[in-house]
Amino acid sequence: MVIGVDGVHSKTREIMTKLARASSEDKGKEDPYPMAASFQGLFARAPCRDDIPKGCFFESHGTGVASQVVNGNEFMYFAVLRALPKPTTERRRYTRQELEEEAKRLSDVHIFPTVTFKEIWQNCDHENDASLVHIEEGFLDKWHHGRIVLLGDAVHKMTPINGNGVNTGLQSATVLVNQLHGILSSGSSFTDEALEKAFHNYQTTQEEGCRKICEQGAFMTRLVTWSTWTGWFFDRFIVPWLNLEETVKSQVRPMLQDAHILDFIPFEGRAGEVPWNRTTKSQA
Ligand SMILES: Cc1cc2nc3c(=O)[nH]c(=O)nc-3n(C[C@H](O)[C@H](O)[C@H](O)COP(=O)(O)OP(=O)(O)OC[C@H]3O[C@@H](n4cnc5c(N)ncnc54)[C@H](O)[C@@H]3O)c2cc1C
Repeated sequence: MVIGVDGVHSKTREIMTKLARASSEDKGKEDPYPMAASFQGLFARAPCRDDIPKGCFFESHGTGVASQVVNGNEFMYFAVLRALPKPTTERRRYTRQELEEEAKRLSDVHIFPTVTFKEIWQNCDHENDASLVHIEEGFLDKWHHGRIVLLGDAVHKMTPINGNGVNTGLQSATVLVNQLHGILSSGSSFTDEALEKAFHNYQTTQEEGCRKICEQGAFMTRLVTWSTWTGWFFDRFIVPWLNLEETVKSQVRPMLQDAHILDFIPFEGRAGEVPWNRTTKSQA
């Protein structure tokens, strides 16, 4: 079996799609590249600032631009997204010079309420700690074919704005591993039929939730970059009146509670503020 966890430009996905095409009526047809970038992102880290509380996360919103930063113990990690003139499926490697030009364009963006990008950039190691990349988004309809299955950014890719890319991938990994373990624990082996069924169950379990998270991420990204005038109006004039912290908590809580766990590994449960809904098979 091949499990393709090779990221947004997955080679496994490319091969799998070709094989799936070859065995279908659409033989010879080319699928459009499933991941498109509507934004580029400058990702970097810089020494953290003492005038900003540790562990604090800030986001700034503007027309076509949004930034996220977290001030850690040693470093602050920040990302600034900027809308591209039009969506593209082209794979792009930006040069150092293009990175510097982008940094210049972002000079006046507020990374913290009192600190601009320019002030942070001057303390950043541009050579080693910064990069400029396309930020693809996309969602695949078919996650498996034959003995090949895909996972993570290879199937569902979102911008960092909703902070859910790796979480979604980890959940998918958990569901897939449970399925594969189920085959072995029932005394069966990884036959073509058993794998097909396990991969199908994995996609069915994860698809709807992942799609929702991706759609929500796409919506949030366009909202915070004021991509439409309704988004601008809502974000600028309505959002400040909402209790965002409570809204986020009420939405994230059920998602966390319903998270999948490796159901065959017994563990000593410790419940925090948000306990798991699921228990391992042995505990059940
Ligand atoms: C700035 C930023 C902030 C983020 N913040 C969050 C967050 O707060 N919360 C969250 O949940 N997610 C976040 N994400 C998203 C998260 O990082 C990704 O969703 C996650 O890393 C995807 O994991 P993956 O294993 O699917 O792919 P990747 O992390 O891309 O890993 C793929 C791996 O496959 C390897 N590979 C590719 N092709 C080949 C090949 N042909 N042969 C061998 N190896 C190959 C690559 O080298 C790479 O190591 C953020 C992303 C960014 C950029």
